[in-house]
Amino acid sequence: MVYKAEYIWIDGTPSAGKLRSKTKIIEDGEEPGIWGFDGSSTNQATGDKSDCVLKPASIFPDPIRGGDDVLVMCEVMLVDGKPHPTNTRAAAAKTAKKYKKHEPLFGIEQEFTLMKNGRPYGFPPAGYPEPQGGYYCGVGEDEIHGRPMIEDHLEACLSAGLSISGINAEVMPGQWEFQVGPLGLLEVSDQLWVARWLLYRIGEDYGIAATLDAKPAKGDWNGAGAHTNFSTKEMREEGGYKYIEAGCKALGAKAALHISNYGTGIEDRLTGAHETQRHDQFSYGVSDRGASIRIPWQVAVDKRGYLEDRRPNANIDPYVVARLMVETICGAMS
Ligand code: ADP
Ligand code: MN
Ligand code: MN
Ligand code: MN
Repeated sequence: MVYKAEYIWIDGTPSAGKLRSKTKIIEDGEEPGIWGFDGSSTNQATGDKSDCVLKPASIFPDPIRGGDDVLVMCEVMLVDGKPHPTNTRAAAAKTAKKYKKHEPLFGIEQEFTLMKNGRPYGFPPAGYPEPQGGYYCGVGEDEIHGRPMIEDHLEACLSAGLSISGINAEVMPGQWEFQVGPLGLLEVSDQLWVARWLLYRIGEDYGIAATLDAKPAKGDWNGAGAHTNFSTKEMREEGGYKYIEAGCKALGAKAALHISNYGTGIEDRLTGAHETQRHDQFSYGVSDRGASIRIPWQVAVDKRGYLEDRRPNANIDPYVVARLMVETICGAMS
């Protein structure tokens, strides 16, 4: 007997990697091993040296095919065994190892927009829907667009064993969010990429595309972010508040480096309006959704917990963002 393994990887699309996948038939009792693909079709190689290598990084039950079938999140390697230049997981793995003693945890809030016929799902064919106000966490067919697909996606993520902590409808019609975590650096990143793959794949069955575009509707409409909640062991323990404040200050000292790695089109989203701080300013504060970093209200009460970096775009590479947060915050601790 055999089973199906869907090998998933991130391609070389400039400025924001796109997901690719293909199916391998494997004999029962055998593990999904190293495989290959044509890198000249994915912006990862030239035609004369087209072979790239897929190295399984983490494996999940396939909730769509079911049975013994699996989803295999891969790293892309060169034929000499070194990480491909587009492989951002390899550097993240080094950082995770280096700062392991701080036990960093992440919860990433993935916002995204459903699209139909090139327009946000729920926007009329011409013109605009009612202004924002009632859509966030709304209910009713005048406000909510795409719930069956979103429910299917949630169910699929849970069946795949992903650590989803919640979902909600967002501020703009057709815009939604799911949260992954709290998990370690590599786990949260692998799982976020797999959750994105499931979103696109399930969208095929509904005739709806999902986009991570950070500003899919110009004008007075919220953009889409990937707020990244972060804590270390020290922050979570009694007396952790001083480490949370130190973390905010460390992020402030490297604000420009972070902004330049926090996703394509970040200047269009971090305008100072629509619950954002400007991309060229840095601030942090308790409960402040207009700050770069928010310390949740409950955390200020408990005097321990985590911080929320509100700057990352929906279209981030979590391997890059999570790595940088650990390097900046834990690097300033040790
Ligand atoms: P918001 O109020 O900003 O919309 P959400 O509930 O959407 O917040 O997301 C909060 C995220 O923070 C969740 O993914 C949750 O798992 C994560 N989280 C909670 N505690 C911690 C922690 N100690 N460290 C890191 N992330 C955490
Ligand atoms: Mn949220
Ligand atoms: Mn949100
Ligand atoms: Mn948030």
